[in-house]
Amino acid sequence: MVNINLKKVSNNFFHTEKIDSRVLDIHKELVENKFDCFLVGGCIRDLLSKKKPKDFDLVTNAVPDQIIKVFKKRARLVGKRFPIVHVRKGNLIVEVSTFRSSKSLERDYGKSGIILRDEGWGNIEEDAVRRDFTINALYYDPLKNQIIDYLDGVEHVKQRRVKFIGPPAERIKEDPLRMLRAIRFSAKLDKQLSSSMQASIKSSADQIRSVSKARLFDEFRKLFLSGTAVNTWNLLSKTSLPRLIWPECDTRNSLIPIGLASTDSRFKENKPLSPAFVIALLLWPTFDRMRSRSKSEDPESISKNILKSQNNRMSIPLRHRDFVSRIWLLQKNLQTQHNKNLNKTPSFRAAYDLLVVRGEADHSLSKHINFWRNSQKTGS
Ligand code: ATP
Ligand code: MG
Repeated sequence: MVNINLKKVSNNFFHTEKIDSRVLDIHKELVENKFDCFLVGGCIRDLLSKKKPKDFDLVTNAVPDQIIKVFKKRARLVGKRFPIVHVRKGNLIVEVSTFRSSKSLERDYGKSGIILRDEGWGNIEEDAVRRDFTINALYYDPLKNQIIDYLDGVEHVKQRRVKFIGPPAERIKEDPLRMLRAIRFSAKLDKQLSSSMQASIKSSADQIRSVSKARLFDEFRKLFLSGTAVNTWNLLSKTSLPRLIWPECDTRNSLIPIGLASTDSRFKENKPLSPAFVIALLLWPTFDRMRSRSKSEDPESISKNILKSQNNRMSIPLRHRDFVSRIWLLQKNLQTQHNKNLNKTPSFRAAYDLLVVRGEADHSLSKHINFWRNSQKTGS
């Protein structure tokens, strides 16, 4: 268990109008039922660093059964790794979790030290220390307009510092995914990894292999589809994590940051983002190299093999694998057949985007890029 001296510090910070009123309504209902309830985690970190929170999470001393009693049909028990409740207000779903302790984590350690099941409830202090980083252990009471900060999280947000709660090696061992979370939050705060964080990741990187393939895919989406993919890649590239998670990826290829920059621009413009495009980008140089080397094997089976092998490390849902394959296979068509019907196929746009990225490094592609750009303008 992590042993930490907690010091409760309150600060007044927000204008509550920055918080979705439906979240405040759910909060109010719990408080009216005599439960403690706070906004917690990423939303407070993001509001403090003047970013728009992706969502608002609530934490309470009510256990799931009690939460369900309050919200009745608007509540649904979910959670793969521990029980949490989804509460609906209008068309918004808010995650409401119960204070947990890290003692329960100790009891539920598997042989390797990894948390397998975590159902033990705790109080707010225990809940704070079981969280991963100080910047994620902030609790906000909207009725008092007060942040409860036991671990200097507010100061660390200001300093853009991602600091583990407790000994990094221990916290990584409990859940190696936290290495990727450290990178994601540093990228979001536009900060380099501290040398101590780099050292912790260096000595523990291999443990990433024990994280489930499904969790890696969930984290992959957050790493690359949240508007800070370029920063994330720069930080990741300084570690051995990419090699361990995407063994098929040629991490030094210069197309990767170029393509990720286009993903970040799309995020800023609120355009739809697809994990398949990022996978197609990360593994394109490998596909391209293997296809040009192999005389006998057909491109479809090369693509299948690469994606199958990647899928052994990080799961990629079948529909995304099919999409990646189509993006790759269309590259050749875009270069050889200027048949305008191609731009009516569903994967055309993503394939065209990859062609444009490739064009940054290979100017001989300009004529094809111009053709397809014009064909979209004229819509013919
Ligand atoms: P974002 O929503 O921007 O991805 P977040 O910090 O809200 O960031 P979530 O995955 O939504 O991240 O988790 C909510 C909170 O739960 C975190 O802020 C953190 O306090 C806690 N948490 C999440 N994952 C872990 C973990 N692996 N170990 C410890 N605490 C965690
Ligand atoms: Mg969150």
